[in-house]
Amino acid sequence: MAKTIAVANQKGGVGKTTTSVNLAAGIALQGKQVLLVDMDPQGNATSGLGLDPRSLQNNIYNCLINKDNIDEVLKKTEIGDLYVLPSNPDLAGAEIELVNMDERERRLWHVLRTIEDRFDYVFLDCPPALGILTVNALCAARSVLIPVQCEYYAMEGLTRLIDSIERVRHSLNPELTIEGIVLTMYDVRNTLARQVSDQVRAHFTDKVYQTTIPRNVTLAEAPSYGRPVLLYNMASTGAQSYLSLAKEFLGHGEKSPG
Ligand code: ADP
Ligand code: MG
Repeated sequence: MAKTIAVANQKGGVGKTTTSVNLAAGIALQGKQVLLVDMDPQGNATSGLGLDPRSLQNNIYNCLINKDNIDEVLKKTEIGDLYVLPSNPDLAGAEIELVNMDERERRLWHVLRTIEDRFDYVFLDCPPALGILTVNALCAARSVLIPVQCEYYAMEGLTRLIDSIERVRHSLNPELTIEGIVLTMYDVRNTLARQVSDQVRAHFTDKVYQTTIPRNVTLAEAPSYGRPVLLYNMASTGAQSYLSLAKEFLGHGEKSPG
């Protein structure tokens, strides 16, 4: 049965999509069957995997709102064992439409139940908000992986996110745990980044991955070629850091959930 992980942080531009795409690709390259679900109407994970969100008639919106069969929507990517459930700008409308629907927080959970025995891991790339789409992801997930950019206010944002996760755990999904925190876009020369990293590690101890993702231009370039960095430039620091995160993640996966 698949383990489902929401990649979430209500802040935009912290590396959620980059982490979702490249961690999912790294794990698929380790021989696991992986599905990446693009829960962001901006569709950056979809385009980062080489699909054009605007041209996709069948997308996650159809599954969430019309209960379309997921098999009509899933797409295989260039990495054989990695599949994507693509997004489209229509998903922005789902935020509003879901409000009056039955079991509005559990729509994604119902969608994913039908495929959970076909994948080892399902990653949910969340939008930069704590709205109904992210709540759907937190209801469908077993754990939350949190990318954190080492900058001012990172701790405040993290505390708010953890409060929201607690609320979802109490009201909707008692199984939900924190998978781990990954520090992203790290620049060793930046004193503030070092201080924030130390602070996050001191506070969240073993919940923080040993692997830190450095700021690396190749990671920012790869999406414009529609490829995970592991296909675009395997030798780059960015690719190697996500490969190392994938290995660490798979090690974490064997520990009992904390
Ligand atoms: P989010 O999904 O949280 O909004 P993204 O993953 O889209 O964040 O990242 C925001 C921007 O920063 C994107 O343009 C992305 O290519 C770039 N980026 C992400 N991680 C890195 C990194 N480690 N080094 C350099 N650029 C990065
Ligand atoms: Mg994103």
